[in-house]
Amino acid sequence: MSRRTLATLLAAVVTVVFVCLAGAGLLVGGSAAGCGPGGTADPSLAPAQTRGWPAVGRWDRNQVANAAAIATVGASKGVPTRGWVIAVATAMQESTLRNLSGGDRDSVGLFQQRPSQGWGTVAQLLDPTYAAGRFYAKLLTIPGWQSMPLTEAAQRVQVSAYPDAYAKWEPQATQLVGMITSGESSLPTGRLASCGGASGSWTQPVLAPVGSGFRTAGRPGHDGVDLSAPRGTVIRAASTGIVSRVRCNAIDNRDGSNWGCDRDGDPKLTSGCGWYVDIDHDGGIITRYCHMDEPPRVEVGDRVVVGEPIGVVGSTGHSSGPHLHFEVHANGDASAEAAIDPVLFMINLGAPLG
Ligand SMILES: [Zn+2]
Repeated sequence: MSRRTLATLLAAVVTVVFVCLAGAGLLVGGSAAGCGPGGTADPSLAPAQTRGWPAVGRWDRNQVANAAAIATVGASKGVPTRGWVIAVATAMQESTLRNLSGGDRDSVGLFQQRPSQGWGTVAQLLDPTYAAGRFYAKLLTIPGWQSMPLTEAAQRVQVSAYPDAYAKWEPQATQLVGMITSGESSLPTGRLASCGGASGSWTQPVLAPVGSGFRTAGRPGHDGVDLSAPRGTVIRAASTGIVSRVRCNAIDNRDGSNWGCDRDGDPKLTSGCGWYVDIDHDGGIITRYCHMDEPPRVEVGDRVVVGEPIGVVGSTGHSSGPHLHFEVHANGDASAEAAIDPVLFMINLGAPLG
């Protein structure tokens, strides 16, 4: 990306952040309503915050800048955060988040859009802001895109020869968008998350501090987060969906026998989730709620709505004390492979944990 393009982009980012913050300040709890064009700049944000982008994980500074551009355009157009993740995942697949000057046939840019197919001129499509804008414009014409699996929504926009290739980027796109738009971030885009969520379709399963995090250095096999709520705290469905699993999973490590869920588990002697529930949501998202104190209040096949009580906090299964172990999985895959970071995921959905 040229210096000029980068400068233009940073200016656009700052404008949107200003607009968003100004709007959010007027609305208790923040709202997408404050994120559209036309707001007032917040003078408290210093221009120094527009300095360059850091590398994030496997993504270098340029790639992160491009992801930030995509998220920023989404915020400025009022696209829900799910759309930002779909767009970033698509660009990961199409261009590895690089603004390519060429590609297959006449494809160019982040999304490998083709001038011959009416997407725009080569010069326009090499402008990340324009390219992302065209992606979103098409996405928003697809009925039900927010409830489709990511790969299907992306394919409907891109009409790719490899329609299944987008799915594998969902965890990384979720993570990258979460990192560059969350309030934890010191980047210019660090408050964008408050622009794209707050749709009311997701909520915290319990309001409690985050204890042990997702796949930390000390616990790389920890596929969820621990929310430190007292025993008996009501656990709520994080979003509307269908209950797909209700089970007691508590194994006695000494002989492989059933430990049972009628008593607390032990951090050394017991393995498993204890009493737990899986809920299938739109878009191939699955949420899991572990270590419930007593049999869950729902059954397989039940439709639950966002915020509906499904059980209470306990310490059954592999647990050292009462807490909710909460997991999020993508691609309709309940296995550990498809687990994504619930903290970043919930930030993206406007219902931050902790
Ligand atoms: Zn846990």
